[in-house]
Formats: sequence, structure tokens, C-alpha cells
Amino acid sequence: MQEITLRTHHVICIQSFIGKGYSNKFIENLSNIINYLKLNNNQKCIKLSNNCDDICKCCPNKLHSNTCRKEEFIKHLDESYKQICNFDYNTQYSLEELNNIIKNNLTIDKFKNVCGNCEWFFICSKLIKNII
Ligand code: SF4
Repeated sequence: MQEITLRTHHVICIQSFIGKGYSNKFIENLSNIINYLKLNNNQKCIKLSNNCDDICKCCPNKLHSNTCRKEEFIKHLDESYKQICNFDYNTQYSLEELNNIIKNNLTIDKFKNVCGNCEWFFICSKLIKNII
């Protein structure tokens, strides 16, 4: 089983991915990760983190220092969702478990409050209400 590392805010991002992203390489990698996770929905193959992850690996915003060009904002997203969902960096999760945690803890108001300034908010805000 392949282990996938996700920054905590990416657990929210993958809910509303519709094939848009920072580059073709980024989109292809993210599509592959989501497909893998869906195929292994109940396998505990996800490790959470607040550092660059398997999605960042193919992102043009990832710097050589292994941080994000928007690190301060991104760390704020990660920390906010860690608190809202009570995510644990030392637990292995399945996609199914993470989806249930989101459903049980996230509200539209909390989502707007954390993600309101993200450049992808215009897409996610239309889709997230079908999920939480
Ligand atoms: S490098 Fe930054 S912008 Fe790119 S996927 Fe990672 S957190 Fe998102």
C-alpha cells in the first residue's frame, strides 16, 4: 500500500477538485492522488502534515527549500483545519475516515472563514455545500 502525505488543508481541497490547478503537471499529479485514494477509500494510507506534501511535489509554487511560495497563508490554512477537525499528525487515516471527520466538524461558515481569501474559493464555495 502506498502512503500518501497530505497537508491538512489539502483534505478540504481534494473534496472539490474539478481538474483545475496551477499547471498541467500539478493537475495530473493531483488527479492521480485522488484516484488512488478513491480506489483505496477504506485503507489507512493517509498521513497528515503541515509541510509540503505529495500534492505540493508537482506544484510550481513549491520552493527549493521545500516550502510553499505562500507558506504563511498556507500554514494558517493547515493549522485552522487541524483545529476545526481535530486532525492528528500521528494517525494514519483512510479517505473514508477523513470525509466523515469533515462532515461532522466543518460548517459552511467555518469554511468561508478559513478559505475565503484563497484564489480557488470561487470554485470550492460552489461545491463544498454538497459535501458538508
Ligand atoms: S506548494 Fe503551496 S500552492 Fe502548491 S500545492 Fe503546496 S501548498 Fe498548495
